[in-house]
Amino acid sequence: MANNDSSKCAHSPCGCPPEQGSKYCGEYCEEAEKSKVMEIGCGCEHAGC
Ligand SMILES: [Zn+2]
Ligand SMILES: [Zn+2]
Repeated sequence: MANNDSSKCAHSPCGCPPEQGSKYCGEYCEEAEKSKVMEIGCGCEHAGC
């Protein structure tokens, strides 16, 4: 099932909305994707994530 929801952070376990001009909600998720870390849950520490 393809999910190309661009209103969600590009870090797959993360459900936060991305920052303007970025695929990610913040630095945490950008770094996590770059380092190819597979996470069970998201550690971006945003409220509700
Ligand atoms: Zn998150
Ligand atoms: Zn995120």
